[in-house]
Amino acid sequence: MGAVEKPRAEVAATAAWDYAPAPEARDIVSFERRYGLFIGGEQVAPRSRSWFTTISPSTEEPLAEVAQGGQKDVALAVDAAREAFRTWSRRKPSERAKVLFRIARILQERARELAVAESLDGGKPIKESRDVDLPLAAAHFFYYAGWADKLEYAFPGRRPRPLGVAAQIVPWNFPLLMLAWKIAPALACGNTVVLKPAETTPLTAMLFADVCRQAEVPPGVVNIVTGDGSTGAYLVREQGIDKVAFTGSTDVGKAIQRELAGREVSLTLELGGKAANIVFDDCALDQAVEGIVNGIYFNQGHVCCAGSRLLVQESIHDQLVRKLKRRMATLRVGDPLDKNTDVGAINSSAQLERIAELVQSGVEEGAELYQPPCRLPEKGWWFAPTVFTNVAQSHRIAQEEIFGPVLSVLTFRTPDEAVEKANNTMYGLSAGVWTEKGSRILWMAERLRSGVVWGNTFNRFDPSSPFGGYKESGFGREGGRHGLEPYLRFE
Ligand code: NDP
Repeated sequence: MGAVEKPRAEVAATAAWDYAPAPEARDIVSFERRYGLFIGGEQVAPRSRSWFTTISPSTEEPLAEVAQGGQKDVALAVDAAREAFRTWSRRKPSERAKVLFRIARILQERARELAVAESLDGGKPIKESRDVDLPLAAAHFFYYAGWADKLEYAFPGRRPRPLGVAAQIVPWNFPLLMLAWKIAPALACGNTVVLKPAETTPLTAMLFADVCRQAEVPPGVVNIVTGDGSTGAYLVREQGIDKVAFTGSTDVGKAIQRELAGREVSLTLELGGKAANIVFDDCALDQAVEGIVNGIYFNQGHVCCAGSRLLVQESIHDQLVRKLKRRMATLRVGDPLDKNTDVGAINSSAQLERIAELVQSGVEEGAELYQPPCRLPEKGWWFAPTVFTNVAQSHRIAQEEIFGPVLSVLTFRTPDEAVEKANNTMYGLSAGVWTEKGSRILWMAERLRSGVVWGNTFNRFDPSSPFGGYKESGFGREGGRHGLEPYLRFE
């Protein structure tokens, strides 16, 4: 017998462990060629006669035409909401609850379609739209459906009444989820709404209009006016509104606040953030690395509460950065519809420019940049996961919201120093603390000027938990019982 050739022991690791493509079926969603405005329960052509094309940021492919709402269109939507308010606000609360429950169930039934639409229009990985955005959007409607007929128990001794017409302006980072955060509590409290989605991500809102039709939401209770920033500005200026709820940049939030000064319109603002993710040397390090990665690379870092500043205790800095870089090298960047993708496309070319400009400033100010080797697709807008070490507190990348997959690492020695550095920002939306000592988490949480403090986790959301900021991150809370209050007045 001749010698048997031994199998080769060496296997090229990359070839053996590459992931085969796992695309989600795209044809589960079919967009209409054109979407009008959703006013009074119907799709109507804009009086402005103006339309724009929404494209997929991962391929630059046009997806659909969408109406550009003008001043007259916004006025019509507010009129429709005012008219509907008369009956909706008097409806038996348990009947309002039924409508919200129906919306929640339909969101669950149509979850795959909506998740694919969200990933196509916004660029986020399908595993995030499927496992985070959609389940949470449905959960918000379920949660507030439960409150609709229990408002007097939420505020004992006070007589809660709806405000009227709520103008709601949402950003592009969580289009359907932010819609749910806004619409669910407003309707539960008996208000009607006019929602303005972001210019780059209007499509899931238009699909939501169809969900409203299916759920038999009475005409005019939900109105959706697409368009750019000018449409949002018209909405804020409309005299027939009673409330504005805005999520977006701090600059636009301030402009809205100025516009509303002296008017009897209540306001909640959920603005930017520059969260500190604080890692103590006694923490479970590998778990912390996962939390850091989730904190900043989730949704390409397009997250107001992203853990964009990593504060590491000096004694473990080198070890942690080594582990983090190794973990970053395993992140898969690419097609948002591939179920293996961790980091999708940047939402727009304008946002990509903003990220690139701030990253350039980090290099120029002397921080040390690391990006794992990764091949970025040729079409669309992409940015590799990035970490900066040797960052000083004065650097722009430690001060300004980048809203991209970019992490700035700073160090501290004592808990007091960690608190001081974490609070050294104009923002105050969220923070994370990693330590094995529960008492230290509580000690830190008392001192951190952040609306949310996560202990040994990050970016966890629940409809029953209030969310909102301090300082220039805004005011008012969304979620939980607290999220009802901005939509009520008390007699
Ligand atoms: P904006 O604040 O401009 O957008 C948020 C929403 O407000 C969108 O629907 C937008 O419409 C609308 N809008 C814009 N201008 C006005 C106005 N004058 N009056 C009323 N509504 C208006 O954010 P950008 O999209 O420009 O993003 C810029 C930066 O803001 C990001 O880099 C990030 O740092 C931050 N940001 C923070 C968010 C958060 O969740 N806190 C979310 C989004 C951005 P349109 O999209 O059509 O312009």
